[in-house]
Amino acid sequence: MPRHLKSPVPAAQVSAARTDVAERVRAILDDVREHGDEAVRRYSEKFDNWSPESFRLSPDEIDRIVSGVPDTVLDDIRFVQRQVRDFARAQRDSLADVEIETLPGVRLGHRHLPVSAAGAYVPGGRYPLTASAHMTIVTAKVADVPRVAACTPPIRGEIPATTVAAMHLAGADEIHLLGGVQAVAALALGTASVPRVPMLAGPGNAYVAEAKRQLFGEVGIDLFAGPTEILVIADEHADPFVVAVDLLSQAEHGPDSPAVLVTTSEELAREAERHVERLLPGMPTRDFAAPAWRDHGEIVVVDTLDEAFTVADSYASEHVEVLTEDPRRALERMRDYGALFLGEGTCVSYGDKVIGTNHVLPTRGAARYTGGLWVGKYLKTVTYQEVTDTASSALLGEVCGRASRVELFEGHARSGDVRAAKYGDGTLPW
Ligand code: NAD
Repeated sequence: MPRHLKSPVPAAQVSAARTDVAERVRAILDDVREHGDEAVRRYSEKFDNWSPESFRLSPDEIDRIVSGVPDTVLDDIRFVQRQVRDFARAQRDSLADVEIETLPGVRLGHRHLPVSAAGAYVPGGRYPLTASAHMTIVTAKVADVPRVAACTPPIRGEIPATTVAAMHLAGADEIHLLGGVQAVAALALGTASVPRVPMLAGPGNAYVAEAKRQLFGEVGIDLFAGPTEILVIADEHADPFVVAVDLLSQAEHGPDSPAVLVTTSEELAREAERHVERLLPGMPTRDFAAPAWRDHGEIVVVDTLDEAFTVADSYASEHVEVLTEDPRRALERMRDYGALFLGEGTCVSYGDKVIGTNHVLPTRGAARYTGGLWVGKYLKTVTYQEVTDTASSALLGEVCGRASRVELFEGHARSGDVRAAKYGDGTLPW
């Protein structure tokens, strides 16, 4: 039986906070729906203290900003974007168009077509999340999306130069310095200055994720990618210091980020917890990491690794690190997670910043029904059909007539009857 050595705050408290966020987001969306750019500007001033003449950067402004970024930073951006692009291209290449013949002259097919435009949200309230530019924009461009409109907020009133550089190098067609619900609303609903997009991608805080969730249907969204989560599975072979460091690496994202340890070793659990408590006060990002660990940190002790995998699946966590003697067992045993990090040689931070798998991943249980962002999210898999054999069309027409009448659809039935009659025995039953 799993035993909690450390529990998070009660679920009711979390649920009340989510209701509050949902209500605030709804009010902002309604306001932008009604007042367009004027409301967008008001919220940008209120939350980000930011109200330039134009939120969209001109090509000259972009060049000036990029030229101020040190070469080593630009080289690292290029390195990571190459990693992301290579993986995304391999994923794109794995998607073949399909056309099969199911009966003589009856051809069914599907094609993968990119959306005509995508909004790429790159978060930046607390940290300039430069890496999210690679994840959203590079991937959209590998999918051949012709127009990518990218948004990121100013960070504490400053232009996030490295993020702008990453957006530009990734191939963004528009860069808007705009954040939060107002950015998501402008992209999804369209305003006089921001033409709407049919699809939105990118991670964000609870407000951004909730805005995307509420707008879904009016706009396509990649997935629910809110405050980040980590779950570490460790056995007695794991290094408790590494476990502690990695738990805190995600807790620092924000005070609402869960960090969970599931382990077969109570001794490792206690040692890892001691390391966390010792490391936290010295962390420059402790203002986010400490409340995250206090309110959303969990330690669960289980009897066997199989039980650990089952418990981990029940969390459907965004990131799962497997620090065990045989980490690849998790590949066979687990099914509900955003991304797996197998063994001590890698870590969630590699996934977040450098390795090349996409870091925009499902949170709050969304991993039960979706994986993370990838080229496929920017593609529409559309079907087509063609029948060039009259005998086959007559056969389909007869079945269509009977099948439609079972459902009481006389109009549908007649479309089948017409073909059965024209290509078959020549008589209409009505
Ligand atoms: P952000 O860009 O998501 O949000 C900043 C914006 O929030 C601001 O522009 C502001 O307009 C808005 N905001 C702030 N307070 C508000 C309020 N009270 N009401 C309405 N709007 C408000 O940047 P962030 O805050 O730094 O958060 C980034 C988030 O992205 C973190 O939670 C991180 O964990 C998450 N993330 C998730 C993934 C994923 O794939 N799931 C990946 C990377 C990052």
